[in-house]
Amino acid sequence: MDELKLNWFSELNPLWAGQCMSLSVEEVLFHERSKYQDVLVFKSKTYGNVLVLDGVIQCTERDEFSYQEMAAHLPLFSHPNPQNVLVIGGGDGGVIREILKHPSVESVTQCEIDQVVIDVCRKFLPSMSKSMDDSRVTQYIGDGLAFMRDNRAKYDVIITDSSDPQGPAECLFEKPYYELMRSALKDGGIICAQGECMWLHLKLICKMKEFCESLFPSVSYGYCTIPTYPSGQIGFMLCGLSKDTNFKEPCRVLSESEYASMGLKYYNPEIHKAAFVLPQFAKLALQTN
Ligand code: SAM
Repeated sequence: MDELKLNWFSELNPLWAGQCMSLSVEEVLFHERSKYQDVLVFKSKTYGNVLVLDGVIQCTERDEFSYQEMAAHLPLFSHPNPQNVLVIGGGDGGVIREILKHPSVESVTQCEIDQVVIDVCRKFLPSMSKSMDDSRVTQYIGDGLAFMRDNRAKYDVIITDSSDPQGPAECLFEKPYYELMRSALKDGGIICAQGECMWLHLKLICKMKEFCESLFPSVSYGYCTIPTYPSGQIGFMLCGLSKDTNFKEPCRVLSESEYASMGLKYYNPEIHKAAFVLPQFAKLALQTN
């Protein structure tokens, strides 16, 4: 195992050639190949337990809140009354934990391809996976693209919490999947999808934004910072069925005490707005006429 040497895990991958994040390993807790991917969980020295799929860090106990909160609250606070939410991927359960903090949410449907991911997260990442036991959650095990093809239900918000576009998640970064998501939205519906890193994948993000704009009247790209994702940052592609959806301003703003009761550690209304302020190189690449 090249990535686990001398008690260091190194995230080597051609998607970020020539660079890698390394974490000091205290103990390997689980390492097996599932039907779909290599699944590794280790206890790190400084980031708690870490889930790795096909050699790529998916979440660590120390910094997962950044991605999970933004993936859930950017779309949910952009919707006036989110009731039915679909999550594709998200086997760790962290995004579901955040969705369930919205009292308007009546149901969360999840389609995750890999039962092994769900099982190891239940065992080793309980602060994320415990949300999957909530009575509002219905889980399906299967491919998200196939689920969307067969699906007849409609949702207010669809969140794609997928791994990177290699292996089982590749199809989740392509136009046919976005077309299926669009047809599964209720009026005024919103999608939010894992949108990779502007420092590494700007070409892919531009391509995605272009096809999203051909499908949706409102499209915005935002991001958050997070130490253990490649280059310390990850983005979100947000698309709305209504031209009136403005992702750059939360359409629901709560009182300080209401935010406090949600137990948020990253999201607040200021960072919601700031998430869409892009550095000049990305702004120029992603700007549309
Ligand atoms: N936040 C993480 C990131 O950006 O790297 C993603 C975390 S979550 C664990 C990603 C999940 O997507 C994994 O559990 C993986 O099994 C699931 N997944 C990958 N391809 C999928 C597909 N085609 N359908 C459904 N789930 C998929």
